[in-house]
Amino acid sequence: MNDKGLRPVIKVISEKCVNCHRCIQACPVKMCNNGSGQKVEYNSNLCIGCGECIHACSHGARVGLDDFDAFIRDLKAGVKMVATVAPAIATSFDGEFLKFNGFLKKLGIQAIFDVSFGAELTIKSYLEYQKQKKPSIIIAQPCPTLVSFIEMYRPDLIPYLAPADSPMGHIMKMIRHFYPQYKDHKIAAISPCYSKRREFDAVGMGDYNVTFKSIEQYLSNTKDSIRRYAEVPYDNPPAERAVLFAAPGGLMRTVERYDKNITSHTRKIEGSPEVYHYLAHLGDAIAKNKAPVYALVDCLNCRMGCNGGPATSNQEKHIDEVELAIEKRYQAAREKYTGKGLRSLNLPFAKYLGQKKLEKYINKYWKEGLYKRSYTNRSSLFKSIIKFPSKKEIEDVHQKMHKLSEKDILNCGSCGYTSCDQMVVAIINGLNKPENCMHFINIERQIISEQHKAELAGAINEVYGHTFHDMNQSIDGIGSLSSHISETATSVLSSSATIEEMVQHIRSIQETLEHNAQTVLKLNASSQRGKDCILEIGELINQVAVQSDVLIAACNMIGDIAEQTNILGMNAAIEAAHAGDAIGKGFAVVAGEIRKLADSSGQQAEEITKSLKSIKNLIVNSTESSVRAQEQFDTIVSLVDTVNHEEMTIKNAVEVQSGNGLQVVNELNEVNKLILKIKDESATLLSSGESVLKRIQSLKETI
Ligand code: SF4
Ligand code: SF4
Ligand code: SF4
Repeated sequence: MNDKGLRPVIKVISEKCVNCHRCIQACPVKMCNNGSGQKVEYNSNLCIGCGECIHACSHGARVGLDDFDAFIRDLKAGVKMVATVAPAIATSFDGEFLKFNGFLKKLGIQAIFDVSFGAELTIKSYLEYQKQKKPSIIIAQPCPTLVSFIEMYRPDLIPYLAPADSPMGHIMKMIRHFYPQYKDHKIAAISPCYSKRREFDAVGMGDYNVTFKSIEQYLSNTKDSIRRYAEVPYDNPPAERAVLFAAPGGLMRTVERYDKNITSHTRKIEGSPEVYHYLAHLGDAIAKNKAPVYALVDCLNCRMGCNGGPATSNQEKHIDEVELAIEKRYQAAREKYTGKGLRSLNLPFAKYLGQKKLEKYINKYWKEGLYKRSYTNRSSLFKSIIKFPSKKEIEDVHQKMHKLSEKDILNCGSCGYTSCDQMVVAIINGLNKPENCMHFINIERQIISEQHKAELAGAINEVYGHTFHDMNQSIDGIGSLSSHISETATSVLSSSATIEEMVQHIRSIQETLEHNAQTVLKLNASSQRGKDCILEIGELINQVAVQSDVLIAACNMIGDIAEQTNILGMNAAIEAAHAGDAIGKGFAVVAGEIRKLADSSGQQAEEITKSLKSIKNLIVNSTESSVRAQEQFDTIVSLVDTVNHEEMTIKNAVEVQSGNGLQVVNELNEVNKLILKIKDESATLLSSGESVLKRIQSLKETI
């Protein structure tokens, strides 16, 4: 303790605090916490450094403080240093604790001492005290947290605390006294406990409290491992069973070496809240002569002893797993003194020799008065900070917190305190507030609820008075709207059916038009072919007419020839007449025959010409008919084209009509769905409105 009070060994990271009050619940001394605000703060001067709140706070708002940063900084700066290592090292660095020494050496530590040997010296100090003063009870004090608790909160127990240093204190004094080569070296204590720092301040020894957790963090940050270091033995004589000191009952088992019956008169107790409950009532029990039942109180703050200290990572492990490492070390430590070979022969003197050897070492480093320790009554600090209210004051606060009878004193612990009275003490000291009390919150809630109920009743009355009629009207309106909607839905359905029928008709017309179009196309092709045939016929008739003309010309020529032949016949007959009968007679016959032939040919040619002319007239008529037929075909083709074009126009129009009709049907279907939805919703609205109306009525009836 300095002018500013006790050194803080934990800190609160306010921004992480969620005001859950679990830290208060876990804290064995309560009043070091201030839960009156939005975050829980703590007062170092009232804190015993147990570390329970660190474990309890699942939000990481409470962390322990040690001297690791200064330790590393000073080592790097070349400060000469030796280290003392707590026996719990065997669990935190299971099987590697001698390699841990190798790691410390590499860091620059010049000598390393095992606190287990300090524990052997501690037992010697206890036994000497017992022998000399014969106290009725000895409260063991290896745990600095329990020493702080007794000094601050149970000073009546100070006379029962063993007036000897802790094992860590013993080993430090041993170094200073028996190892002059290290008298100016700083001592770094490697420990599982944040409150060790307070002990060093009290005894004026120990320059750095370096916790296992910080070293684990350092190894992790530097990606280092203890495994890679060589094993290095301690610089002091080896301990025997005091290596068990880190475990609950370890002290008792070490004393057993000297007193076989120690177990029967030892109270072994550890872990919060049991140990605090025990110590809190021990003074009374002693005063009332109900204690001591036990001569030795082997007590530790932590449930698993120092092995599960707040500055280790062992809290979540199983206790058997944690203690296995210690037991292994214990077996190895015993072998150092008795020798495996001797023990296997089962010779009685082996143990005796081993014990003699150990006693020789202990006696060498133990000195009368060297390890004496005294304690300070620090309760005045607590008393100066915390006011103890009278019964009346407590009663008044209870009243204000709506605790009007015994049944309202719930002692539920929700506020973090063990009793309602303790909470009141905290409130009176400004360390908490009624709003954190379960009972107070419940009653306040009821009061507020009653107020709300009254306000609600007023509001309901108003609603009933002003809106009931309107509501009824609205419901009627909704009812009639609902029936209109039903009618509209029916009519839309009917329209939809009619339009669908119309669309079917249009589809059928469309099919007929498709068929007609095919027929018109065929007709067009046939007309074209007819026209082409007429053209060909006209051509042929023309050719026949030309041939007829040629034939007429030939007949005319034949007529001309026959006429000339007749003339020649006549001339021949004349000549034959001139020639006489002898010559001319035959000649006249020929001439007569020629004239007959010429006449006959002329007549024939005339007949043929007449026939040909009449044929030609027929041909001319045919030609005219064929031209007219051609013109008729032209008209047919043109008409067919017109029909085709009209047909296409109608077909396109019908297609558009059909599409539009379908669209109308689809849209009508959508409209129908919407209408049905509106119908459903209006039905829901109607039933909600009716239900609201009923509720307003029933609400009104209940108020
Ligand atoms: S346990 Fe305490 S410190 Fe942690 S969050 Fe809750 S109130 Fe805050
Ligand atoms: S360290 Fe212990 S005494 Fe201190 S506030 Fe936390 S629980 Fe309380
Ligand atoms: S009733 Fe209120 S004051 Fe009492 S213990 Fe419960 S929370 Fe705390």
